[in-house]
Amino acid sequence: MDFSELRTVVEEVELVDGHAHNIVPLDSTFPFIRAFTGASGDALTFSPHSLSFKRNLKDIAELYGCESTLQGVEEYRRVNGIQSICSTCFKSARISTILIDDGFELDKKHYIEWHKNFSPLVGRILRVERVAEQILDEGLPDGSSWTLDSFIEVFVSKLKSAAGEIYGFKSIAAYYSGLEINTNVTKNDAEEGLTQVLASGKPVCVANKNLVDYIFLQSLEIAQFYDLPVQIHTGFGDKGLDMRLSNPLHLRAVLEDKRYSKCRFVLLHASYPFSREASYLASIHPQVYLDFGLAIPKLSVHGMISSVKELLELAPLNKVMFSTDGYAFPETFYLGAKKSREVIFSVMRDACIDGDLSIPEAVEVVHDMFARNALHFYKLSSANNDVSLSNNLPQKLNINSLVTNEL
Ligand SMILES: [Zn+2]
Repeated sequence: MDFSELRTVVEEVELVDGHAHNIVPLDSTFPFIRAFTGASGDALTFSPHSLSFKRNLKDIAELYGCESTLQGVEEYRRVNGIQSICSTCFKSARISTILIDDGFELDKKHYIEWHKNFSPLVGRILRVERVAEQILDEGLPDGSSWTLDSFIEVFVSKLKSAAGEIYGFKSIAAYYSGLEINTNVTKNDAEEGLTQVLASGKPVCVANKNLVDYIFLQSLEIAQFYDLPVQIHTGFGDKGLDMRLSNPLHLRAVLEDKRYSKCRFVLLHASYPFSREASYLASIHPQVYLDFGLAIPKLSVHGMISSVKELLELAPLNKVMFSTDGYAFPETFYLGAKKSREVIFSVMRDACIDGDLSIPEAVEVVHDMFARNALHFYKLSSANNDVSLSNNLPQKLNINSLVTNEL
């Protein structure tokens, strides 16, 4: 079989990055070693001994033409500055659109608009738990204490006023209390949760299961009303996560609830290591889509290929999407793009050899997974069959209002 056309398409396609976070300046306190790992504290000292760390470091050193050590790369970053390394990384990554969840707290992060220097189209994803925490941190104007009703009124109005300027919501319920959302959580339960959360003082963290579930369900109603997609953290993350609770199978009650049947969900991170479970959900629930960011580039080569192959075991190919899950460092966007091209080529080539796909079908799948599925899912384009982005600017993008609308 001749895979040269497939290879060319994979290498040349412009990428739509549906899930990423803000970049930070060089003097941020967020350490560069975190570009390679979700580990922290003492676990960080072992991180350089993982397969993905060694490979990703080599790839960056090769891009920069510098010594292949953490110190060598850090020295290169210091000497060249953030603008230069961003240019190098994004020129090589060729990402046409980035959707940024700016609810990930990072020291000195750049505003969303700043990222337009490196990618033509940049939009915002709103993290709903962060919106809730900002509201509760600010307090009521008259100094009185929150009730569930007064809080939810402000929360709903914030989400509604943002709806026209964002591309979706994001939930980190998995981090706080897990994905087994109680679709019958009562107002009383949520009110108790709110009281408990407020009693813990500021900065407020809404990590009480009843309150998190209530916020999640309120967000779904608004998402459904405005036909906005909802990104859900699933699978691995950092130490703050109880991974047992981030298995997307826990979402069954939400997925089976008729009240939310028109919601569109995307399960982030290939739900690793629950990639097969995610694939199954996408195959039986029309409202479930998949995203393989973070699994690429944070796993070994075997891990990246096997988790993407597992995602494709059952899932419809027009529901599976690329993202970088880039954050803090432009190198994470570069690695996400580069490794995704390599992994998808390998997975598509094997699908052709196995007889699952013809080569022309595999070429179409590449366009779908890297761009068209996300353009459609996030409504970034009115003509979803057009792979050329230049003629096809998103209708909704208004960067000025995105940035001035502080939530
Ligand atoms: Zn993320």
